[in-house]
Amino acid sequence: MHKAYLVSTGTELLLGKTIDTNSVFLAERLSNMGIKVVGKSVVGDNREHIRNAISLGIKSADIVITTGGLGPTLDDLTKEVACEVLNCPMVKIEAEVNKLREYFRKRNRNMPEINLKQAMFPVDAKIITNNNGTAPGMYLNKSGKTLICLPGPPHEIMPMYIQEVEPLLQKDYGQNNQQSAVVAINIFGPGESQVEEMLAEIVEDPRGCSLALIAKEGEIQLRITAEGKDTSHSQTILNELVDKIKSILGDRIYGYNEDALPVVVANILLQQKLSLAVAESCTGGLLAKMLTDMPGSSEYFWGGAVSYSNEAKTKIMGVNDKIISQYGAVSEPVAREMAIQIRKLAGSEIGVSITGVAGPGGGSEINPVGTVYIGADSQRGTQVKRLYFVGNREAIRTLAAKSALDWLRKLILNNEI
Ligand code: AMP
Ligand code: MG
Repeated sequence: MHKAYLVSTGTELLLGKTIDTNSVFLAERLSNMGIKVVGKSVVGDNREHIRNAISLGIKSADIVITTGGLGPTLDDLTKEVACEVLNCPMVKIEAEVNKLREYFRKRNRNMPEINLKQAMFPVDAKIITNNNGTAPGMYLNKSGKTLICLPGPPHEIMPMYIQEVEPLLQKDYGQNNQQSAVVAINIFGPGESQVEEMLAEIVEDPRGCSLALIAKEGEIQLRITAEGKDTSHSQTILNELVDKIKSILGDRIYGYNEDALPVVVANILLQQKLSLAVAESCTGGLLAKMLTDMPGSSEYFWGGAVSYSNEAKTKIMGVNDKIISQYGAVSEPVAREMAIQIRKLAGSEIGVSITGVAGPGGGSEINPVGTVYIGADSQRGTQVKRLYFVGNREAIRTLAAKSALDWLRKLILNNEI
């Protein structure tokens, strides 16, 4: 697997004023294309520190990507130092000088001489045009290594990377050259350690593949990379391992690669020609939002109600107030009624409800903060599930909405609804 090292430069990054989002962006893009980020440094605008970081990068990886410090001022040192480390002298590139002059002419400003620094590059560097600023980037192959220098502002680096750098990296380091095969398995339900425990045998002996678990908001992504002697061999090894993992995790797997849980559920509803209505309390419409984030959701999503207060539960949802006073708003009977009533109101095939205690206040001994009931009603009847989540208000609400989606997915796939 090819390796990359990231160097973010800029004193502001060390003062807690600016968050280093560039390396996060790059790390995600690189790992998605099968390049392993082996480390990163954040350094100030200091010649020695930048040199140390780039040297370490060159030692530990095939690709070094720097961001920041390509401006015209004295503290913008990155490109200069990087070229020193690689022993590549820079020369003034006339075409770049003209572009800079044009940039300033269009803005009716004189170009300060100091800006000429931005037109200096090693002769064999590929210059990456910056459509959103004055500092061009560069892509340089030297002695079996690749050095990429990009500017600091995220709105400049992101389009430059996506449009220009990634295709170059794909050509030099893409999977096709590398013969590896990659897949991500998306899992909902079990926690990280639980997945690891279930896959203990595979974790111990991944049969020529490497595994990485990434946990986020209740979801786990298991990324698997197989490196065989050629592409088809890699694919064979990968498929064997994926089959084994499927047999262990079963319907805890909701999708692969870019598949997102709401989209997976939407596709199932579409395929089975089912329509859905939701009644939400503690999630305040989050489930409806997730379902309507995709264009075209009116095909399967009727809509819903946010019946937050007890009064809304009785007036909108028609939940009998005696049920609320007897069992409480966060209870199995209320979740059941909400699911039944919203389906009746909508005339949809399925009604889903959520009621819970998102906190931080409002918990009780019977229903501590994090207790959530989700209900599902269809012509086959009504089911209610009690769940318990640990986390802050936002986490509990997100987990509740996603759990409702995932439960719905399983109920439909297993013909239980
Ligand atoms: P520079 O290219 O060094 O002149 O950076 C210009 C601006 O880009 C800085 O003032 C920051 O606001 C932003 N910036 C630089 N590096 C990063 C980074 N690693 N992540 C996010 N923003 C950055
Ligand atoms: Mg800077």
